[in-house]
Amino acid sequence: MPAQLIDGVALSAQLRAQVAQRAAALTAKGQQPGLAVILVGEDPASAVYVRNKVKACQDNGLHSVLERYDATMTQAALLQRIHALNADPAIHGILVQMPLPPHIDPHAVIEAIATAKDVDGFSVHSAGTLVAGLPGLRPATPYGCMKLIESTGVPLKGKHAVVIGRSNTVGKPMALLLLQANATVTVCHSGTPDIGAHTRQADVVVVAVGRRQTLTADMIKPGAIVIDVGINRNEAGKLCGDVDFAAVQEVAGWITPVPGGVGPMTITMLLANTVDAAEAAQHD
Ligand code: NAP
Repeated sequence: MPAQLIDGVALSAQLRAQVAQRAAALTAKGQQPGLAVILVGEDPASAVYVRNKVKACQDNGLHSVLERYDATMTQAALLQRIHALNADPAIHGILVQMPLPPHIDPHAVIEAIATAKDVDGFSVHSAGTLVAGLPGLRPATPYGCMKLIESTGVPLKGKHAVVIGRSNTVGKPMALLLLQANATVTVCHSGTPDIGAHTRQADVVVVAVGRRQTLTADMIKPGAIVIDVGINRNEAGKLCGDVDFAAVQEVAGWITPVPGGVGPMTITMLLANTVDAAEAAQHD
């Protein structure tokens, strides 16, 4: 029996409706949640991402500001803008779109964002809260993956989860979130000799590599939950993930499509983080 599709578009719509409700409640109290998005340079993919984020804010009742700067912007000028937004009470979340031009140090930029406004969850402080199991803002993509897994109704406690990829923005926080949910977690990466030996034991596989056909049907256990984070193009130029979708869906129990799986959830969780930050600001 083919796998059940985990529909990220439908789950996103549900979660965005909740976000919009919370945003409306805050707005009624005079504290509309606000997200500032900064784009430095002309990267076309980044321009699409930031436009989608700003549009999602508008569609769900959040205030949003898009600041676009030339690729020649200095690091000092960017840090100055971030400090101004840190002090702006109408802004509850600050997101600087990556990648930045090579003369700007992304770590310096991420660390300049006030902890309470770090809605991307990329700062050392936010990462530390995740490691320590404390409340904090979680990186949107792995946070969205957790919601997709939860939507299957399969409890993670006692399950074996394998994450392929160990980036600071996806793989590592994903592994920590799964661990927090009481899964037994294995992390594979480019230095792992036989990834299939691990994934064949897994009840849940999350693939975040950025390479087509990283997970094939012979690498999974029948009935497993498969979450595909990758974004690639096939020979025909069509969007695809890291999973051999057609073959894997014949073996898996649940699977996310690309597009329509993790992608929409990432923006949804960014909105949720911004509303969380706005609610927290109310209680300060
Ligand atoms: P990244 O920073 O390039 O990290 C890729 C990870 O994959 C690294 O840890 C790398 O291992 C590992 N890797 C590379 N080749 C491998 C191989 N042959 N076998 C096993 N592991 C391998 O990428 P990322 O930012 O985590 O993103 C991963 C993918 O997810 C990309 O396609 C990206 O576009 C996509 N993405 C999607 C969303 C979304 O919203 N849908 C959000 C973020 C990212 P090493 O550490 O050993 O080098």
